[in-house]
Amino acid sequence: MTIPEPPPATLRLKIDHAALAANWRALDRLSGGANAGAAVKADAYGLGVATVVPTLLAAGARQFFVAHWSEVAPVLAAGAAPDQIAVLHGVNTSEDAAYARASGVVPVINSVRQAALWHEAGGGLCHLMLDTGMNRLGLPASDIGDPAIGALDIDIVMSHLASAEDDTDQSAQQLDLFRSLRTGVAARRASLANSAGIALGSAYHFDITRPGLALYGGVPCAALAGDLAQVACPQAMVMQVRSIAQGAPVGYNATFHAPRPMRTATLSLGYADGVLRCWGERGSVQHAGRALKIIGRVSMDMIVVDCTEAPELAEGDFCDLPYNLVAAAEITGLSQYELLTLLGRRFAR
Ligand SMILES: *Cc1c(COP(=O)(O)O)cnc(C)c1O
Repeated sequence: MTIPEPPPATLRLKIDHAALAANWRALDRLSGGANAGAAVKADAYGLGVATVVPTLLAAGARQFFVAHWSEVAPVLAAGAAPDQIAVLHGVNTSEDAAYARASGVVPVINSVRQAALWHEAGGGLCHLMLDTGMNRLGLPASDIGDPAIGALDIDIVMSHLASAEDDTDQSAQQLDLFRSLRTGVAARRASLANSAGIALGSAYHFDITRPGLALYGGVPCAALAGDLAQVACPQAMVMQVRSIAQGAPVGYNATFHAPRPMRTATLSLGYADGVLRCWGERGSVQHAGRALKIIGRVSMDMIVVDCTEAPELAEGDFCDLPYNLVAAAEITGLSQYELLTLLGRRFAR
């Protein structure tokens, strides 16, 4: 049996490719003498590597960062060259190292053990992540002199800022430590700044920056607000419109009762798509310039909105979920990072 093509999705994620390209160019310009790379881990922060990477390549990005080896194939398929892809989690098994060697994709070495695994597999060009005080993943300063580290052929020596978006002296401390530690490492290039780090100034830029969130329209700090545009716009179809009486309950556990006769609309979008229950408290969708409040519990596959004041809204119409990330984070209590990476697999991208 041939499986028929599925019909058009009732749930779609509109990607503004011009905004994505403009965001990368803005971040590249703000990186001064450094080149901007692109963090495309977690399927390009939920937006989809297959659609995001070609646009970033066309804009000029030449260095991509993923976390897992499982994320490599889609980035290659989207047109990046193997030596343009760095895997941040590095080689944790001999199979990881063998895959890195076979694919030509470059591991980020994070520990003496990872360096040993890399050498055992035959080694080759790699990157090196130094820990400068985040105490998460990366080589501790005390291990820099290890012979296994000294024997690495390192392209980028990097570290990661823990609090670049905060008004704190932790970033300056990390910068100082990175500067002194990298003198003990032979590497072609250096990298420190994530999105918010780019706004900290030229001392943080080195040779390559690693923006993620800001590429996708997230605004980590006020200094970048004017340079970035929204990229992702989730849209869901109205499947049913109904009129309900005063006092009628809506949704699971009847957490909402109509305070008056209402017109409601049921949309094909739920927490399985990343619209968590917290949206139900203060969230709304947009239609024809009007905000329609979400009422009752968010279900797995559906939300209900109040469309009493939107008589034009009809079954089959699409509504926008307002995804200005700063505003959406404020409404939901989720971080901008979570709002992006939560977006589920059912969106047509
Ligand atoms: C995720 C990640 C980035 C990107 O960070 P943003 O805050 O999203 O810009 C950069 N570097 C490393 C090591 C990361 O893990």
